[in-house]
Amino acid sequence: MRVATFRVDGRRRIGELTPDGRTVRLLEFVSEAGALPLVEAMAAGERPFTNGTTVQLDEVALEAPIPRPRRNIFCVGKNYREHAHEFARSGFDSSAAAGAVPDAPIIFSKVPESVIGPGDSIRIDPAVSPAVDYEAELAVVIGKGGRGIRKAEALDHVWGYTIVNDVTARDLQGRHKQWLLGKSQDSFCPMGPWLVTRDEIDLADTSVRCWVNGELRQDANTGDLIFDVPTLIETISAGLTLMPGDIIATGTPAGVGIGFNPPKYLKPGDVVRIEIAGIGVLENPVVARERAA
Ligand code: MG
Repeated sequence: MRVATFRVDGRRRIGELTPDGRTVRLLEFVSEAGALPLVEAMAAGERPFTNGTTVQLDEVALEAPIPRPRRNIFCVGKNYREHAHEFARSGFDSSAAAGAVPDAPIIFSKVPESVIGPGDSIRIDPAVSPAVDYEAELAVVIGKGGRGIRKAEALDHVWGYTIVNDVTARDLQGRHKQWLLGKSQDSFCPMGPWLVTRDEIDLADTSVRCWVNGELRQDANTGDLIFDVPTLIETISAGLTLMPGDIIATGTPAGVGIGFNPPKYLKPGDVVRIEIAGIGVLENPVVARERAA
């Protein structure tokens, strides 16, 4: 099942994509929270239903599937080996001396207000950061919440998946030590194009690819995650109750801008396209942020 959030006739609606991906059947959850109430209802055992109305996908404006998550998006740093090594090689990370590959998951977060939808612009402000980078990531959407979730049951708590671009201001990430500012700038969390239920994804073998202006930059497989999804859920939920609709971005593979010499940071006019097999394509242009007069 694939669930999109979109605007039709001026209202935010959600719908299930038909198998051909060209139309959506409207679902009877009308909420400014997009797909969040659906995830919560299904976590509580309810089934979604449709009134049978369908609309053409190309006649609606897609939005982020959960346009404003209830709380910060959980994120995982350095969760692909090759990326951990490119990060260490870049000289960026003072922790590299301790070994490029972490021995426990690195967990940080992005504020909910950083979320933007498919096609929305990533806004960069050179006066704030000239070093804005892209990070293609598989994101987990939690269904049934819980605390102390064990690995063996972790996937029972997954509602599904989407794509997140964990856009990052590298200089802010480094200067302020904690990563929140560099990761949470306005528009730095493109999400979409929709949610897919967990049965649509084989975590052991799903390709994650990212192009900038048509140039393939990242090309990896979720089977290469250092800490797999059950481990991430067990780690985060050990003493922190996960809730329906929580989002966990699982980390980005090698090929980010800072991994090149010289770095290939984003600039106005660029287009970032991320494709994850079984989900779809998330594409966002990059623009210069207009400054207040
Ligand atoms: Mg990331």
